[in-house]
Amino acid sequence: MSLKVYNSYTRQKEIFESITPGHAGMYVCGPTVSGESHLGHARPYITFDIVNRYLTHKGYKVRYVRNITDAGHFEEEGREAEDKVGKKALLEKLEPMELVQKYTNLFHWAMLQFNCVEPSIEPTATGHIVEQINMIKTIIEAGYGYVVNGSVYFDVKKYAATHDYGKLSGRVLEDLMTSGTREEASRELEGQGEKRDRADFALWKLAAPEHIMRWSSPWGEGFPGWHIECSAMATKYLGAQFDIHGGGMDLQFPHHESEIAQSTICNNHTPARYWMHNNMITINGKKMGKSYNNVIKLTELFSGSHPLLSQPFNPMVIRFFILQSHYRSPLDFSNDALVASEKALKRLWEAYEILKKLPLIAGDTNTDLDAKVLQQVNEMQVFMDDDFSTAKVLANMFDLTAVINSIKDGHIKSGAISSSTLALLQQQFTFFLEDIMGLKTTTLSNNNQLGGVMQLLIEMRKDAKTKKDYATSDKIRNQLSAIGILLKDEKDGSMSWDIG
Ligand code: ZN
Repeated sequence: MSLKVYNSYTRQKEIFESITPGHAGMYVCGPTVSGESHLGHARPYITFDIVNRYLTHKGYKVRYVRNITDAGHFEEEGREAEDKVGKKALLEKLEPMELVQKYTNLFHWAMLQFNCVEPSIEPTATGHIVEQINMIKTIIEAGYGYVVNGSVYFDVKKYAATHDYGKLSGRVLEDLMTSGTREEASRELEGQGEKRDRADFALWKLAAPEHIMRWSSPWGEGFPGWHIECSAMATKYLGAQFDIHGGGMDLQFPHHESEIAQSTICNNHTPARYWMHNNMITINGKKMGKSYNNVIKLTELFSGSHPLLSQPFNPMVIRFFILQSHYRSPLDFSNDALVASEKALKRLWEAYEILKKLPLIAGDTNTDLDAKVLQQVNEMQVFMDDDFSTAKVLANMFDLTAVINSIKDGHIKSGAISSSTLALLQQQFTFFLEDIMGLKTTTLSNNNQLGGVMQLLIEMRKDAKTKKDYATSDKIRNQLSAIGILLKDEKDGSMSWDIG
């Protein structure tokens, strides 16, 4: 069966055909490691993990490239990020790369928690300065880049005269030149007076004397713009044209639009055949943002330490919650929604454990139930082939959960399903749940059990302290510490624990 992918560039579903038969090249914009990853970051990486897993299942040898933005974007995103890295680094005499390393490690840890398969290549912007400089040189030579005071800008107006600028994001150039949001305006402050046109974007920026991260270039010491790194790294590892370029919808403009322009000038090709974008996550109906005070870091989600959360959530619950919606639909996050997902996942999990143990009893193949189960099992592949419809796959699994539970409870005789259908159900359930959805069964129950045990130990220690039985309270703390679990007395008298 052929796989259909929604192409954001053409705004329609298209049959996926890779450039090189049997191989698929996918580039996904990675994290900016100037701070901790939050809930908004979970969706793209889980979405493209599914794409990677499913393409692999379809028989493609996938080269999945996901970059680390450790330069360039700091400046594009606003002064704050830049100041944070620069100021912190100066005060504490830290290397900026030390902060970058810290947040990169934390990101990798979170991806591991989400059971995301590692990309094939994870290039960094700072490791590809030469490639970026070479690309900028080509753009200047082609007449689409210009140098002003040691900075280089892309001439959008000139490009747009002969190319489809704005096709991906649906923006009209005239609007970009005359209006723009306040945010965009403030972002451009730095380049104001240097740019020929408001729609132009930076390829290279001259570094101010206090700027720590800087490299030599034909235009003086500076640092690359954000967009050029992805064009340079995608070209280097996937070629002038590759199969899929992915990212969040928020990256369509200006980031992906700029990537298309740069790569088209350098490689005479639009870079990707298929552009895929996941929709955004809102929190209680609101856009996620600092001004709403609703940015939830991944570490806060896992530990439950955010005012909007009533409890810690297992990373598998978050993964499941995200997969319960189609990646192109908006997804509203709330504590209640996550609690509901936790319950649903538990139910699915328990049925799965029962299913694995159901004996294969020879039964009648001609029952309606047999036909229905067979149909629902076979549909899972059809749904995935239809632009990765994970939500529909999970819905079928829930229907099948009811059948499994009915067999267990004796409401349906086990012989009502033929042994061949049951064997297929067992095999496909395991395959889609574990290999394609990437859900892990053990983590959830272990963590829930561990949480329960820890709660019990904390209460026992509290009781011991109340009775002034310090020998027992110390024993609990010390023995837990010996196995790497640290108990912390909080200021309000409560106690928390952490795996140290
Ligand atoms: Zn990118």
